[in-house]
Parts: sequence; C-alpha cells; structure tokens
Amino acid sequence: MPESKFDVIVIGAGITGLTAAKQTAQAGLSTASIEALLFGGLVININELDGEPHGSGTDFASTLMGEISELGVENLSETVTSLSRDGNQIAVTTDAGTHRARAVIVASGARIKRIGIPGEAEFEHRGVSQCADCDGPMYQGEDVVVVGGGDSALQEALVLANFCKQVHLVHRGNKFRAHQNLIDTVAARDNIRPVWNSVALEVQGAQMVNKVKVRNVADNKISEIPCSGFFAYIGLEPACDFAPSEITRDAGGFLVTDASLQTAMAGVFAAGAVRAGYGGMLTDAAKEAQTAAAAARARVAKQ
Ligand code: NAP
Repeated sequence: MPESKFDVIVIGAGITGLTAAKQTAQAGLSTASIEALLFGGLVININELDGEPHGSGTDFASTLMGEISELGVENLSETVTSLSRDGNQIAVTTDAGTHRARAVIVASGARIKRIGIPGEAEFEHRGVSQCADCDGPMYQGEDVVVVGGGDSALQEALVLANFCKQVHLVHRGNKFRAHQNLIDTVAARDNIRPVWNSVALEVQGAQMVNKVKVRNVADNKISEIPCSGFFAYIGLEPACDFAPSEITRDAGGFLVTDASLQTAMAGVFAAGAVRAGYGGMLTDAAKEAQTAAAAARARVAKQ
C-alpha cells in the first residue's frame, strides 16, 4: 500500500475543498486533495449560478481545479475509509493506501436525501431524478412532481418550470421555508402548483414513472398526480461515514466544530456542507474554506 506525507490533506473536491486546498497551497504548504467521485461536488449540477461568480457550476469548479493543479496540489482519486491519530499527525486511510498530514480539512460535503418511499429507487433514471438542470429538458411539455419546501425544492422547481407543462410542488407544510426571493419567484410562476400539507407515498409507473400517490396530512385523503418525473429535495445528509466517533456530530450527523472550524479531534477541521451550522450559500463555502485553511496553517506553523 502506498504511503505519503503532506502538511495538509483536504478531503472532498467540492467548492469548499478546492478553495481550502488553493489557500493552503498558496501559503506554501504541501497539500493533497482527495476525492472519490467527480471534482466540483453538488455545484456542478447548477447551469447558472445565483450571484457571484457568474456562469455554470462546472465552469467555476473547473477554474478552481486548474488553479490548484498549477499550485502543485496532489489530486488523489481515492475513497477515504477512516481517519485516525498517529502521534501529532493524522492518518487518512483510503481504498488505495494511507496518507499522513499535520492537518486535515474535511470538506466532503453532503448528499441529497432520499425519501425512501416505494418506487423511488426502482424508477431511478426512469423518471426519478435529483438534478433538474441535467434532466429538466427531458420533461419538456410534461408534468413533474417536486417534493420539499426549502431552497433546493423551490430552486429546482423553478428550473423545471422552464421546461415542464406543470410542476406540482408537494410540501408537507402549509408554507415554504425557503428564502423569500425564491418564494416570491415561485408564486409568480403560473405553472408551479403548490400541493400543501401533503406527502408523497409512492412513485408508480410501468416502463417509466407515470404517477405519484400523495396523502393530504390534514384530512388523510389520498390522491394521484399523473406525471413523468419525480424530484425530491428534502434536505441533505453529510458525506462523512469515515469520520471516527470521537468527532462530535449533531442530530443530523453533521460534524460539530468550534469557531476555528476544528472538530473534536485535534488537527481535523471541517468546512462546508459536511459541517453543522453551514449556511448553504457559495459565499459561506468560500468563507469556511478560508477559516479552515487559516486554522490548518496555524497548526502546521505551531508544529
Ligand atoms: P432544507 O432547507 O432542510 O429543506 C428541506 C425541506 O424538505 C423542508 O421544507 C422540509 O419540510 C422538507 N422535508 C424534510 N424531510 C421531509 C420528508 N421526509 N418528507 C417530506 N418533506 C420533507 O433542505 P434544502 O432545501 O436541500 O437546503 C439545504 C441547505 O442548502 C439549506 O441551508 C439551504 O438554505 C441551502 N440552499 C440554498 C440555496 C440558495 O440559497 N440558492 C439553494 C439550495 C440550497 P419542513 O419545512 O416541514 O421541515
């Protein structure tokens, strides 16, 4: 098994991880970036970023990726399986070997949660999707169901409304919890129909999705919404199965940090969507990356 040593290892090459790796490398620290999947994280699903920088999520992530490569960051395409203490270093074990560093920044992000209802897994890629920007054009002139009442559900419903005849926005409550600008924009779209106080019970179809069964939680009435697509955005879960139990988590499993973004394990910092209290905006990702990189630099300097 190969072994290697760095000043800093950044786990996760989403926007937070790439920004943190850029900053530690710019500070002259030997830095590795470990990513199991594609670099960029969830942002690459966004065709047009809301605010700064302008352009697509893929363009933004590609620019950062180019910058860190030029700065000499070692990009490792591996899956992290565990973290442990090794003297005053941290051992990061992956499916390919063990790497050691004086500081580790966990920026492994979060995954979109599944509801776990019948048909959701069965019809994956046959009408069930988690990416409105990628799959929206396939539903031109059709009806789709979106589940959720937060920023993601409303944002994705707006993307789908550009293609679909009607977007049925199924929410278990009677008001959305998203930012007001999204609520107002959704309200102004004729082809987004909120389905209040309702939960999705089952995704049904034959070859492809053709309807979704929903229950009104106020009167328990069950109805069916004919549709060709189903998109659930009911929140995120942290992607940090590798984090040891000594790192404190919140009720949702997100990693708890102090103000310098250090976790309960000395030398291990957490930033971005994997962290409890993350704000969710790209500007938050950049700020947290900066804070974690500064804390990692301070730890390396002290050693
Ligand atoms: P979220 O804010 O946690 O919202 C999840 C939504 O799903 C809530 O409306 C919730 O209902 C509903 N829900 C949860 N579990 C459910 C279940 N089992 N069945 C049915 N509905 C369920 O998640 P998110 O919208 O993915 O956002 C995650 C983070 O990213 C947030 O911090 C958000 O601000 C950020 N974000 C920001 C933007 C932006 O600013 N442009 C875009 C996307 C995401 P209740 O309301 O009843 O709890």
